[in-house]
Amino acid sequence: MITPFIVAGVAAALGGGAHGAFYRNSQLFGRTLGRLPTTEKHVALTFDDGPSEIATPRVLDALRRDNVPATFFLLGRHVERWPHLARRVADEGHAIGNHGYHHRKLTFRGPAYVRVDIALGTDAIVQATGVRPSMFRAPHGFRSPWVTPIARELGQRTIGWTLGVWDSDRPGADVIARRAVDDCRPGTILLLHDGDGYDPSGDRTQTAEALPTIIAELRSRGYRFVGLTA
Ligand SMILES: [Zn+2]
Repeated sequence: MITPFIVAGVAAALGGGAHGAFYRNSQLFGRTLGRLPTTEKHVALTFDDGPSEIATPRVLDALRRDNVPATFFLLGRHVERWPHLARRVADEGHAIGNHGYHHRKLTFRGPAYVRVDIALGTDAIVQATGVRPSMFRAPHGFRSPWVTPIARELGQRTIGWTLGVWDSDRPGADVIARRAVDDCRPGTILLLHDGDGYDPSGDRTQTAEALPTIIAELRSRGYRFVGLTA
């Protein structure tokens, strides 16, 4: 987990370029979509690091039950392991983005590495789902001067997020739901996780358990759920 304190420390140590590297919505290293361009009560649920055989089916079940579209930033390595789950994400009408292949932080990787990682992620997704992703989200949102341009060259718009609720720390489904609902604003892109970028058996069931509450509460406050498009 990257705490704000550590990010601030690293940023201070590195100087100018660090803002673009460590702030996922920074425009310094190329344009990133960090919120929906709307003042309407629209919210986009996004799920990173999947698929996983533990949480992805439960997340999909919850979304289907409430007829909510979402966006999944799939990790190539996990797509190869569970192609049927990636296919189910596509079959159920959700938007699919690329989260790369290895899930190593891209900030200190050279252009060749970045290009290969984005391309491998793309290939895995295309192979499993038939969908060619037009969106890319960097692991942890960390970028460098070439991540966004390379993604664009490969036909993918770089996407950040507005609100993270630290669901990966597994604070309990009720805490995840409360953070998501309390801090949601019109145009929020909400970052959630249906997988673990490092441990394929990482457990994200709390996120799945939080979903019905998040959906019901946001709907009762007048929010509409939208999938992302590039
Ligand atoms: Zn990730």
